[in-house]
Amino acid sequence: VISLKKHFPRPRTGFGPREVVKAVDDVSFTVARGETLSIVGESGCGKSTLGRTVLGLTPPSAGAVWFDGWRVDGLAKPQLRRIRRHFQVIFQDPMASLSPRMRIGDILAEPLINFGIVEGRKAVDARVGELLEMVGLPREASTRFAHEFSGGQRQRICIARALAPEPSLIVCDEAVSALDVSVKAQIVNLLASLQDRLGLSLLFISHDLAIVGYLTHRIAVMYLGVVVEIGDRDLVLDRPMHPYTRALISAVPKTRGETSRRIVLAGDVPSPINPPMGCRFHTRCPKAFDRCKVEEPKLRSVGTPRRLVACHLGISEQHASTEG
Ligand code: SF4
Ligand code: MG
Repeated sequence: VISLKKHFPRPRTGFGPREVVKAVDDVSFTVARGETLSIVGESGCGKSTLGRTVLGLTPPSAGAVWFDGWRVDGLAKPQLRRIRRHFQVIFQDPMASLSPRMRIGDILAEPLINFGIVEGRKAVDARVGELLEMVGLPREASTRFAHEFSGGQRQRICIARALAPEPSLIVCDEAVSALDVSVKAQIVNLLASLQDRLGLSLLFISHDLAIVGYLTHRIAVMYLGVVVEIGDRDLVLDRPMHPYTRALISAVPKTRGETSRRIVLAGDVPSPINPPMGCRFHTRCPKAFDRCKVEEPKLRSVGTPRRLVACHLGISEQHASTEG
């Protein structure tokens, strides 16, 4: 994903300049084969729009999305259809995305037939059974309807449907957010083991840093349409550098008897229509200084090329802030 932007012009009201919602504003990253990259941030930070743009569900305003050597943004419908099976999506609410009138077997057969994965009724039925078993459901589930299952089971069905076209990448948009804590853990474990087994790449979009820690390899933290920190899981979770990441992580309840002071941010997330000048986080940043109000910090590597941070603070100041 290279310098991706997604701006939504708003309907003109009055005579002022036209307002633009800068939902995604110059975001770049890569996801390797078999890797999970998590995109975290508060609601409204642009992470879902980013996911939808990567999937080709909405065209970017600028920038490019490359997939396995193919440029996939702005493809015409027939070409997009052909490449579509390689990237799939799982959303938050499985009930909304499963047809109430179709049997589970038919829901899973649809992508198998549409993408020509297997041919013939017998082969399709056999594959449907395998998909159900892969996600920990009995083969008999194929004769039932979505409403007969619990939330966690329905999400397993959505995962099976996403796996049906044998994708390389699955975008999970808040895929476990609506589930009970224990069910969340089961679904996350399932995703992690499927990823291992199938060599899948996952783009795991979530506001929940605690759950992200269980399955991700790398983390990108978004704030108001931009990535403010990106790096290996342990670096970001254990030694966060950006003041916003530090605040997010301080809000995650600690296990293992660790203690840390919670950093409470002042105010709400500003509107993405006219994001603050300079560093977008400066209106809430406890470390902000003059330069932050005028100059937008660019992502740069801090300490190791495995971690990029967009902040004007120097390394020593960031270390000081980590301890303080
Ligand atoms: Fe805070 Fe300034 Fe760093 Fe932005 S650039 S996160 S305002 S210290
Ligand atoms: Mg969202």
